[in-house]
Amino acid sequence: MPKKDQLNILVTAGPTHEYIDPVRYITNLSTGAMGYAIAMAAKQRGHNVTLISGPVSIPARPGIKPISVVSGWQMKKTVEEYFPDCDCLVMAAAVADFRPRFIAPQKIKKAKSMLLELEENPDILKGLANKKGRRVLVGFALETRDLIKNAKIKLKQKNLDMIIANQCTKNNQPFGDKKLSLCIIDKEDKEEGFIDITKPKLAGIILDRIEKLWYSQKSNVNRKQCLKT
Ligand code: C5P
Repeated sequence: MPKKDQLNILVTAGPTHEYIDPVRYITNLSTGAMGYAIAMAAKQRGHNVTLISGPVSIPARPGIKPISVVSGWQMKKTVEEYFPDCDCLVMAAAVADFRPRFIAPQKIKKAKSMLLELEENPDILKGLANKKGRRVLVGFALETRDLIKNAKIKLKQKNLDMIIANQCTKNNQPFGDKKLSLCIIDKEDKEEGFIDITKPKLAGIILDRIEKLWYSQKSNVNRKQCLKT
């Protein structure tokens, strides 16, 4: 049996915090559980793992020292720094879509009402879409409606190899250690559904697919090289 390649796997996890003033921020309900589960599973398979984490309260995992970031902008800079050396990027982080246009230098005082102006955060995955090369790119989509339609749009726009589409309803919130019901969609638009699956189990399934994609790309390249010579 040939020895398996050790891949450089870059994983992002958790939410981002977008500060309004020195003591307030906007964020979302992400806990980082999915990204940490993927990082752990990749490490256990012998891959090199770099984990970039937003603010989470997950205890340290053996052999993994997360690189901590706070804002979406910091996450973008850090992902871009590590991206050139990675074979696979799994963007499990829930990067805030918006950030305050201005961060008040002092705590904002109470008032009857207040307008908060937000601007779009840069889309990290979209920005890397045309630098993909032979890397395997994996994204997540969380939707409250039109899950499959929206996930497929993201898969194409962000040039992903696969996207994990999670439905979020009032009774089914996929945050923390909850079991998930979801659909994995690949580049060929093939969908596979899973019901009530734990995050560590899902992490294993995602890694199986990443490894399969990596080896099939590699054997395609080898085949092309053989044809050339
Ligand atoms: O937020 P959205 O549904 O577009 O997220 C889809 C994928 O894109 C996720 O994998 C997420 O980590 C990534 N993303 C990103 N930069 C953003 C927003 C999302 O890379 N600003």
